[in-house]
Amino acid sequence: MTISKKMRTFSDNSSWIRKMFEEGARLKARYGDDQVFDFSLGNPDVPPPARLREIMLKMAADETPGRHSYMPNNGLPFVREAIAKRMSKEQDITVDPSHMLITCGAAGALNVTLKALLDPGDEVLFLAPYFVEYHFYVDNNGGIGKAVQTDDAFNIDLDAIEKALSEKTKAIIINSPNNPTGQVYTEEAIRGLGSLLESAGKRFGTTIYLLADEPYRKIIFDGLSVPSIFKNVRNAIVLSSFSKDLSLPGERIGYLAVHPEADDRDALVEVMALANRILGFVNAPAFMQRVVAELQETMVDNSIYLKRRNIFCSILEEAGYEFTMPKGAFYLFPKTPIADDVLFCSYLQEQRILAVPGRGFGTPGYIRLAFCVHEDVISRSADGFSAAMKRACSA
Ligand code: PLP
Repeated sequence: MTISKKMRTFSDNSSWIRKMFEEGARLKARYGDDQVFDFSLGNPDVPPPARLREIMLKMAADETPGRHSYMPNNGLPFVREAIAKRMSKEQDITVDPSHMLITCGAAGALNVTLKALLDPGDEVLFLAPYFVEYHFYVDNNGGIGKAVQTDDAFNIDLDAIEKALSEKTKAIIINSPNNPTGQVYTEEAIRGLGSLLESAGKRFGTTIYLLADEPYRKIIFDGLSVPSIFKNVRNAIVLSSFSKDLSLPGERIGYLAVHPEADDRDALVEVMALANRILGFVNAPAFMQRVVAELQETMVDNSIYLKRRNIFCSILEEAGYEFTMPKGAFYLFPKTPIADDVLFCSYLQEQRILAVPGRGFGTPGYIRLAFCVHEDVISRSADGFSAAMKRACSA
């Protein structure tokens, strides 16, 4: 076969989410859509804010020449300015639009950043449980991904990170609010991580960048807020998108910003722009850049996710599951009552419930449940969660 062996192996081993998707399709064909409780996909279903439509119609009607042209690879200057203005408030530090790139989602931002930073064999750490794609993004760009476990409550474990750091470490990726756990790291933890990276960099004579993957920054509950990265870590890059907070994942629009005092910031941003071009993104979609520039202070109705989280947590608690209450994002990551998470997912499937085994996120013994479904689906799944728990406890 002429197809890359590496890609075939990736494809065979990679996607528990895809396996669940296929299983879901089979169950839905058999029992009907509304009889399957599909918590496998983190595909936001909360509608985008109403203003999105208004702005899209206005933009579509604009026939000014050049609206659909190529542009600088780092994005339209006025769009970077609009995002920098909002980010400056969030990060509590002035973000410079010339240190930003508009990208094809947070995924595009991560690939552009890794392409700009990595030489073959360089290492990138990320925290388990992790977003499945990190391994691939690091590999895409010639690096070696190394997962480091978080602590029992899915918080940053500085000792474990310290042990994993080496002269080869170019970057560490963190994600808060977290997919799959819903954890939000405290300011103290971010600051501690920043000092650790700074002192390790001094020891090795390198710069270790913190890549803060923040697409869920605004999906946060209980009056909490996500601490500033830039206030606490100098060699930091914040990467984000509008996929979750405006419910626009299919539109592929995101961005990144480099700390105004990061090492080699100007050269880094220049190389990132080249990376955006030669990875084949060229630039983020022009139409969506103009649209999001006008939506910086707008977001989806978070109260919908909050209500779902509360209903889901009550159901799981009632059924006897052990879990950490998510502080943000739209995922739950309960412990499985038996060690084998794949077997437990099959018990759930007998109840027509689809969950993703924790081993897909580098942490076996858990399942991920995405609450990107109507609250009615969550409520109706209660008996199934109880039955699967009883089956596991009597096995
Ligand atoms: N990072 C995390 C943690 C995610 O969960 C996702 C998407 O689910 C992404 C990055 C990619 O997001 P985007 O759609 O903005 O590329």
